[in-house]
Amino acid sequence: GRGVAMVTAVAARLAAHRRLLEETLAPFRLTREQLAEVQAQMREAMAKGLQGEASSLRMLPTYVRATPDGSGDMGSRGHSMCGAGASSSILELRVSSSWCVWPREVYPWPGVDVRGQGRLFDHIVDCIQKQGLSGQSLPLGFTFSFPCRQMGLDQGILLNWTKGFNASDCEGQDVVCLLREAIRRRQAVELNVVAIVNDTVGTMMSCGYEDPHCEVGLIVGTGTNACYMEELRNVASVDGDSGQMCINTEWGAFGDDGSLSMLSTRFDACVDQASINPGKQRFEKMISGMYLGEIVRHILLHLTSLGVLFRGQQTQRLQTRDIFKTKFLSEIESDSLALRQVRAILEDLGLPLTSDDALMVLEVCQAVSKRAAQLCGAGVAAVVEKIRENRGLEELTISVGVDGTLYKLHPHFSSLVAATVRELAPHCVVTFLQSEDGSGKGAALVTAVACRLAQTTRV
Ligand code: BGC
Ligand code: MG
Repeated sequence: GRGVAMVTAVAARLAAHRRLLEETLAPFRLTREQLAEVQAQMREAMAKGLQGEASSLRMLPTYVRATPDGSGDMGSRGHSMCGAGASSSILELRVSSSWCVWPREVYPWPGVDVRGQGRLFDHIVDCIQKQGLSGQSLPLGFTFSFPCRQMGLDQGILLNWTKGFNASDCEGQDVVCLLREAIRRRQAVELNVVAIVNDTVGTMMSCGYEDPHCEVGLIVGTGTNACYMEELRNVASVDGDSGQMCINTEWGAFGDDGSLSMLSTRFDACVDQASINPGKQRFEKMISGMYLGEIVRHILLHLTSLGVLFRGQQTQRLQTRDIFKTKFLSEIESDSLALRQVRAILEDLGLPLTSDDALMVLEVCQAVSKRAAQLCGAGVAAVVEKIRENRGLEELTISVGVDGTLYKLHPHFSSLVAATVRELAPHCVVTFLQSEDGSGKGAALVTAVACRLAQTTRV
């Protein structure tokens, strides 16, 4: 009688919810053809960028001409390298998404207060001084994880901020000069800025020290980007036709010319519009840790408005920007977690979900992170195929140095990237190497090489 009718009604409601969930997630499930199309468009954008034609890929020369050859550059870190005085080591300084990192210590940025170049770079120098390095003359390698137009190893014009950074009046300026000026203002340390290095390049270099096949650097953290060794003859903006140079693709901006619009969902549009750089970094906004949680949150808001989640009740909490951190995505998708634990994580976030709800949230997370990993894989496939064709090889054996919290902490991201690359670049045998503090070590390596070259020239 009534009991049966109720059970039937519940079953029908669940089936309807499941249909709505599937409809919502369908645009996130990419076919092989779609991914191959992304790879092809990326290849085209790479070629155009290298030739200096209009392209969403900037393909920036880095002036790093070789991966480490193991000739002892790393080993010489402990010695006086260049510059006069009692230099005892090469310093590494990293400016990334939210931290000023020094060899072993981490200082949080003073948050939104970092406005204006003066204060930003003063803060960086303060971080250096906290290390108690005053009074020494030290060669410095500067890892700077933003797009820079370089004219040499120690020059880099910041083209634009990404990842939520917007210290005013830095764009268009040489960040090495800004750092040197701040060092002068503070007067306490004597530092010799020798090289500015993108984090992808640092990662490639540090992994390359251990594996000579490592000719690609990949970051999937707060932001995403890749660099690789390109033939100089293909690089229009740098003189010379022989040898190679590492190119910073700045692939986060891929699609900023509208080429990804076929894949972009209404949720991607929401995330983009609410960001501080609408229309920019469209590929990055579909892939990296800073944005995946926001995509999930917008999907959950939509599902709630359809009555699928939370019994249709909008919660205040879900309206809060950035409540889903990369860390939560990684936790929620961890295989070892029972649904009960997923619920607990969501309850901690202030989202009191039923078990049915929690299962759906899990599926949303999976769809979003899988798409991210596959897009990233399509990008890597484009890069390694380019290298293979550059060298006219039937088969290419190559390694990719990787860093970044999303890649490292997420339970499935790395294997999905690898699977996509196998599928889309079948003639490349690709090994992924996770770097440990790769970008910092890499900057030191580049600095060491630069110092060695400088000394050789002097002699
Ligand atoms: C920046 C790149 C950087 C990447 C990873 C992007 O937002 O534009 O320069 O390599 O993030 O940190
Ligand atoms: Mg050239």
